[in-house]
Amino acid sequence: MKNIVLFGPPGVGKGTQAALLKERYDLVHISTGDVFREHIKNKTELGKLASSYMDYGNLVPDKVTIEMLKSEINKNLDAKGIIFDGFPRTIVQATELDSCLKVKGLKVNGMVALEVPENLLVERILNRGKTSGRPDDQDEGKIRHRFGLYRTKTAILREYYQEQNKYFGVNGVGAIDEITQRLTDVIDKF
Ligand code: AMP
Repeated sequence: MKNIVLFGPPGVGKGTQAALLKERYDLVHISTGDVFREHIKNKTELGKLASSYMDYGNLVPDKVTIEMLKSEINKNLDAKGIIFDGFPRTIVQATELDSCLKVKGLKVNGMVALEVPENLLVERILNRGKTSGRPDDQDEGKIRHRFGLYRTKTAILREYYQEQNKYFGVNGVGAIDEITQRLTDVIDKF
């Protein structure tokens, strides 16, 4: 399996690019945010719990997120590979992902990170909020809070994957197809 972590701050275009990469490489796309939103839509217990964090731009606790992610992986063990979008977001999640894959004889092949200056992203997210209906996309304070969490909890994952020679930064500014091309140039070598 070719397992890819698509990485970057909120609003960087991970969802858009993951959907395109999924088609190109025939991979399964697991977006933890999308799975949580589906649970919220279906009013499940997990959905209720997740929305109490997500609505304020907070991270859902590791234990809950990891358990949900593991069950998504287990549903897709016959896939050619998985694109992880929005996961891992903490060091605990990254180490749990490694050990979950390892027991199945699998690994993360690489992390591709979309790099875009933060000031371009807040505006992009506010625009997305006009159509997405996401409560966490419609309030600048909540968006800035999500960036704060990204800086303090998530950005360090760059080093975690760099130490394993698995970090590949890609310029995330430009047309969608240009960015896809930059990503595929990297992923083709995995
Ligand atoms: P996203 O769709 O990736 O922007 O995620 C939306 C929200 O879902 C985040 O702001 C978090 O509240 C929650 N979430 C998604 N993925 C994770 C994760 N890996 N760990 C904790 N919370 C998450």
